[in-house]
Amino acid sequence: MQELTHYIDGTHIKGTSGRFANVMNPATGEIQGKVPLASKDELYNAVSVAAKAQPAWGAVNPQRRARVMMKFVDLLNRDMQKLAETLSREHGKTIPDAAGDVQRGLEVVEYCIGAPHLLKGEYTDSAGPGIDMYSMRQALGVTAGITPFNFPAMIPMWMFAPAIACGNAFILKPSERDPSVPLMLAELMEEAGLPKGILQVVNGDKEAVDAILENDLIQSIGFVGSTPIAEYIYANGCKNGKRVQCFGGAKNHMIIMPDADMDQAADALVGAGYGAAGERCMAISVAVPVGDETADRLIEKLIPRIEKLKVGPYTSGNDVDYGPVVTADAKKNIERLVQTGIDQGAQLLVDGRNFSLQGYEDGFFVGPHLFDHATKDMDIYTQEIFGPVLTQVRAKTYEEAIGLAMDHEYGNGTAIFTRDGDTARDFANRINIGMVGINVPIPVPLAYHTFGGWKKSVFGDLNQHGPDAFKFYTRTKTVTARWPSGIKEGEEFSIPVME
Ligand code: NAD
Repeated sequence: MQELTHYIDGTHIKGTSGRFANVMNPATGEIQGKVPLASKDELYNAVSVAAKAQPAWGAVNPQRRARVMMKFVDLLNRDMQKLAETLSREHGKTIPDAAGDVQRGLEVVEYCIGAPHLLKGEYTDSAGPGIDMYSMRQALGVTAGITPFNFPAMIPMWMFAPAIACGNAFILKPSERDPSVPLMLAELMEEAGLPKGILQVVNGDKEAVDAILENDLIQSIGFVGSTPIAEYIYANGCKNGKRVQCFGGAKNHMIIMPDADMDQAADALVGAGYGAAGERCMAISVAVPVGDETADRLIEKLIPRIEKLKVGPYTSGNDVDYGPVVTADAKKNIERLVQTGIDQGAQLLVDGRNFSLQGYEDGFFVGPHLFDHATKDMDIYTQEIFGPVLTQVRAKTYEEAIGLAMDHEYGNGTAIFTRDGDTARDFANRINIGMVGINVPIPVPLAYHTFGGWKKSVFGDLNQHGPDAFKFYTRTKTVTARWPSGIKEGEEFSIPVME
């Protein structure tokens, strides 16, 4: 069994707390490794290493920092297969999905190569006689990020790439469920030329997270994970005077209008609902067809597609549509919620319970489920299931459909399928949700836009990646400079004042 480490000051360090978590192979149900869970002292030690290393890195010119990012992109491409296999083995997702996880992170790194441009300040010449005014963006110092299990490559890169490109040191506390890829990423960053201590990985659980919240040297915290933990980290991080951005759970609705291309809508729902076993914060978990006729036509198209889905281990190659869920507990929770759906009166049209795969009987596989006639009060509708379960809620009108999505407490992503431009435009304008797809089921913005939901899916002001990340990871300083030689004889010294 593999014993994993922390990555501190450029070295793999064994845990000293005596506490460990099991790292599972979700396909076989076997324990494949042990990850150390850091104590407060171990976390604090990493922070002091980061605090010593950061000033020199912050002083490196942005172009040189960008060159580290360029090299890192090359190394990610070089090691893509190895990263994807390691990721699949711990997470369970298929190899193409795992490579996509690395690729979407890589694209954020590519964006960060633009750091010299993105960090440029503003300049006002002659704000007054002999007076110029300029602003610059400076690094915060030591920053930290806490990431979820479902994108163990992409989400750490969303955070550490801009933080480091801005000149910060970054402490990553990845999910304890799949910690190997984050450790590999830290090694690759150093191979790309990053000085030791600028990117460190401290594995752990609540104890390490609480230490991040309490440590005075940590200036900012990024978090992605479930909403209750997002709320906890946001409240306590802000209370302790840190800059905090937290991204939480989701329940993404897709509205299907009667004029939609029904084959396209059904294909989209199957990919977005069941891909990655539904363990995506942008997965579509609720289908809202408008009108019973639309609902019936959709179901007719959906069922055969769902029944064709192939569920299996990542080692089966491209033949598999999705793999196991991440842990036995995750599987139990999905099964519990499915049971509430049945008990509360939804119709289970595709029953994925008791799914079993020969040779992988102990794996955490869950067959695909499809509910119809669910209502707003049911647990399968109100709660995030994070599994391969698609729930259809029928709406009589467009207004009722949009109202459902608007009233739900989560607001991460949503989509509408229609051929009507007016309806699509109205939907995009009125909906109170952060990421909107028009005939696109998973509208994840590319690296040069920003990613973030609304309502209980987000806590904080700025989004992830894109221009917002360069704001989140820097402070603005504005300098007003007077050079007396610029004042002409007899001219009075003044700058414009606010009335
Ligand atoms: P999680 O909240 O269980 O864990 C996220 C991180 O928080 C992990 O690093 C974990 O170690 C830590 N953590 C867990 N319990 C904690 C506690 N009590 N105190 C302090 N820290 C704790 O989430 P997960 O199961 O790893 O990921 C799935 C969730 O993440 C889903 O809800 C999904 O919607 C959400 N997610 C959201 C986004 C987004 O951008 N909005 C993206 C991906 C995932």
